[in-house]
Formats: sequence, C-alpha cells, structure tokens
Amino acid sequence: MTKKIAIYGKGGIGKSTIVANIAASYSQEYNVLVIGCDPKADTTRTLYGSRIPTVLSVLKENKEPRTEEVVYHGYNNISCVESGGPEPGVGCAGRGVIVAMNLLERLGVFKEPFDVIIYDVLGDVVCGGFAVPLREEFADEVYIVTSGEYMSLYAANNIAKGIKKLNSKLGGIICNCKGIKDEAQIVESFAEKIGSRVIGVIPRSELVPESEIEAMTVIEKFPDSKQAMVYHELARRIYENKDFTVPEPLTTDEFEGFFKELKNMGFLEF
Ligand code: ATP
Ligand code: MG
Repeated sequence: MTKKIAIYGKGGIGKSTIVANIAASYSQEYNVLVIGCDPKADTTRTLYGSRIPTVLSVLKENKEPRTEEVVYHGYNNISCVESGGPEPGVGCAGRGVIVAMNLLERLGVFKEPFDVIIYDVLGDVVCGGFAVPLREEFADEVYIVTSGEYMSLYAANNIAKGIKKLNSKLGGIICNCKGIKDEAQIVESFAEKIGSRVIGVIPRSELVPESEIEAMTVIEKFPDSKQAMVYHELARRIYENKDFTVPEPLTTDEFEGFFKELKNMGFLEF
C-alpha cells in the first residue's frame, strides 16, 4: 500500500523543508514521489538541486508532454513534480493542482509502485487550492506544521477546520520551532485542544538555511548531524503512525480563550 501524506501549514512555516527532508529520509529505503502543490514551485528544489519546470508551464508549451518532461529524478532517485500555478493575482492555485494531477494520471505516473507520496500544500489561504489533495482523495493523511506563534497556530486551527469539513484524517501536528519560550508545550496544548497530538518537534537550526543555499536537504548536506536525525525520526514516526483523528477545531472565541489560558499558565512571557 502506498502511504499518501499531505503536509499543510501557514506560509513560510517550514513545510517544504520538512517535506524535502522526510522524502530524503524515506528515499534510503523506499520509492518516493514528491508533489509540490504551491505556485512558488520550490518544494523539490533541495531534492533535485535546482528548480524543475512546473506541470502548468510545460503544458503551456505542449498539450501532451512526456513523463520525463514533468517528473524529474532527484536525490536517491526521488520522483519530483511541481504543479505550478497561475501568475500571481490571476486564477486559482487549486486548478493548477487538478490539471497537474490529471496529467500525472493520464501519463500513468501513479501506476509506478511508490511506497510514499508526499504533497506539499500551501495552507493559509483556505481557498479551493487548499482542499484539492484531500477533496480528490489524492492524500489519505494530513499533518499540520506550526510554530508556537499566534498567527501560525491561528492558521493551523483554520486548516483543522478545513480537514474537519472534508472529514479527513489528521495524523498529528509538527512543531517547527521559531525559538519562542516553551514552544513545544504551547503547540502540545493546542494539539490536545483540537483532539490531536504533536508527532514531532523540529528545532531551529542554522544547518537548514546552510543546506538550502546549496539546494540540498539537511539529510544530504549534513547526514550525520543532529538535525538530520530529527528529520529521520519524524519520517519514521509518520511512516509508522496509526493514530488519526478528525480534528475538533476551536471557534474564534475558544481560540482567543486558549491564548489567555496560556498566559495564565505562565507561558508567552517575553
Ligand atoms: P511557503 O509557504 O512560502 O512555501 P514553507 O512553509 O514551505 O513556506 P520553507 O520554505 O520550508 O517554508 O521554510 C521557510 C524558511 O524557513 C526557509 O528559508 C527555511 O530555510 C527556514 N526554515 C525552515 N525550517 C527551519 C528550521 N528548523 N531551522 C531554521 N530555519 C528553518
Ligand atoms: Mg513551501
């Protein structure tokens, strides 16, 4: 059975870094496909070593492209696809994802025996694009990336609302630390509030931007580092995860109350 994962989270929170690093981890054992569903099309850059052409841009030139024109093989033979999207300000990112998925299906890409397929999904704009991988059942399980910051948790709560609406399975929350005090505990209490749990805590590390500059994952550039071990551990926990819930997101008032509670508990002291 193919494990089909979607990673959601606020813009800039660290989704693509996590997707690329867990893909790199899985690639040591498994056949992996990574699909970037973000018009920025940078999910697979650290796996391929540079940016690959997007499905939408290839389709503009040629209505019936060959598989090699849209699927690129990166680190450890990971299959990399970028859906691409409309120019900023025009059209819906969701359409790009649908068009890309239809083409991959037509080309028979999903017939290849992938062990793991990972979708990197832009999630703070809860528009049509947000829902596509779940609504169309491309992905079976969702993980939300957040830090302990207000806006990031706010976005996580909105994503949880979308997941609930689609009756999808949330596998857990990934805490990508921004470096605020008691961050893991804050994210842990949020996860509990929405009926989920923290499946991994990723510390901030200079090795992330250092490897990113060279268009590599931490796992490729610093394979023996502690940070690489953290991504391996997260990959393992996600792979073995059997604990899923339909989240119970907070209402706006409950969300504000949650932050007041944190303050009363002595968190969020600056
Ligand atoms: P977008 O929504 O724009 O696609 P994203 O959620 O995919 O963003 P990334 O591109 O993975 O986020 O990360 C944003 C920035 O944060 C990157 O420059 C990355 O190097 C940095 N970053 C991510 N995780 C960490 C970390 N654990 N430690 C240090 N820097 C990090
Ligand atoms: Mg990204």
